[in-house]
Amino acid sequence: MTSTPTPNQPHRKRPTQRDLDPHLHRYAQRTAGMTASEIRALFAVASRPEVVSLAGGMPYLPALPLDSLADELAQMVATEGMTALQYGSAQGTAELRERICEVMAMEGIRAHADDVTVTVGSQMALDMVTRIFCDPGDVVLAEAPSYVGALTTFASYQAQVVQVPMDDDGLIPDELDAALCSLRAQGRTAKFLYTIPNFHNPAGVTMAVPRRAEVLRLCAEYQVLIVEDNPYGLLGFDGQTYPAMRAADPDNVVYLGSFSKTFAPGLRVGWALAPHAVREKLVLAAESATLCPPTFTQFVVARYLAAHDWKGQIKTYQEAYRIRRDAMLEALAHHLPPGCRWTRPAGGFYVWLTVPEGLDTKAMLPRAVTQRVAYVPGTAFYAESDRSAAARLMRLSFCYPTPERITEGVRRLATVLDNELELQRTFGSLRPRTVFGPQSPSPDTA
Ligand code: PMP
Repeated sequence: MTSTPTPNQPHRKRPTQRDLDPHLHRYAQRTAGMTASEIRALFAVASRPEVVSLAGGMPYLPALPLDSLADELAQMVATEGMTALQYGSAQGTAELRERICEVMAMEGIRAHADDVTVTVGSQMALDMVTRIFCDPGDVVLAEAPSYVGALTTFASYQAQVVQVPMDDDGLIPDELDAALCSLRAQGRTAKFLYTIPNFHNPAGVTMAVPRRAEVLRLCAEYQVLIVEDNPYGLLGFDGQTYPAMRAADPDNVVYLGSFSKTFAPGLRVGWALAPHAVREKLVLAAESATLCPPTFTQFVVARYLAAHDWKGQIKTYQEAYRIRRDAMLEALAHHLPPGCRWTRPAGGFYVWLTVPEGLDTKAMLPRAVTQRVAYVPGTAFYAESDRSAAARLMRLSFCYPTPERITEGVRRLATVLDNELELQRTFGSLRPRTVFGPQSPSPDTA
């Protein structure tokens, strides 16, 4: 209860930022770019059982053979515990790095284990790459939209992100050319292009193969390094894979991989494959962050790759996700109002939805949660300067809920959209208009 102040009682002063955090004056400037992602803020609400969460990108772990994994882990601790529980090399264990080369061979990469650095998830690799290349104010090119975890990493190193439009075939080479050209005209060069060519997070699209050659050519011409982030590449629903950009240009691509989606994210095992000189710097950066990646989880993954039918497990995942993707696409077609459009992913976890003109996905999220459905608003996937373009966009993930829950979630979402449209018809829209989505890039965002 609040009491009305009397003349003798001074108004209680609003707490200042400094009252809330007495260390405020001590933080390095780079912490200004460190803000909680919209996804993180959502997790608390979206994880309530009554809410169908189409928000998070949690892999479908019930597809794993937990019993046999448990037996093997127990045996591993008994027989190899003295090494598996010891410190290890900063670059990662030789055995795992060899196995990682076998995994990458599935996408046409011929690599030497010496050029692989094991990291704590590919998120750490992203952090290391940004750390070694970016000074404050440096430009990083990324797709529009782009992976929220990458954007927060770039922000934390105070890099300036310039986002380049995509369409259903991924990054648009002409748009990339225009962005590179415009930077050159300003006397600037991007430090690297960050791209997710396969089954994009959040857009769900895949870069067409001819475009890969074009993007490689442009980056070589403008002398811009490519960071190819590929956690979903083996999760094509028909078992299809696409040639890695790293395979075509080993000297100008840093490739990032992960076992989070093909095995389990809780292990936190990812890697970077980098040109030799870059690899040296990455290992030094990784050493200062963690001394060495966890030996234990590297042993777990190496043993899993040696003893399990891991390719069979990937097929099991592909099938589980294909069924879920189908349920989502069917429900979207059946329930959503006219004026919506969405991408049709051939793999991975995500559909990218554009809602009708005048709606605002961020503003309507609380009403969606009231209707017991959650998603991630499009603004999360744009750097600060680009956010106004994202009002009509949202990411829907189909990786974790059952197909029935997905259908129910989309049905609830459709109700929310119908209500929003009804409100708009009644009161008119006071919201800014959005002029582009991933399928229809607008000239004014080029
Ligand atoms: N890149 C992309 C595109 C992702 O979607 C994710 C996880 N959602 C990561 C990197 C990080 O994955 P991890 O650190 O679990 O390997």
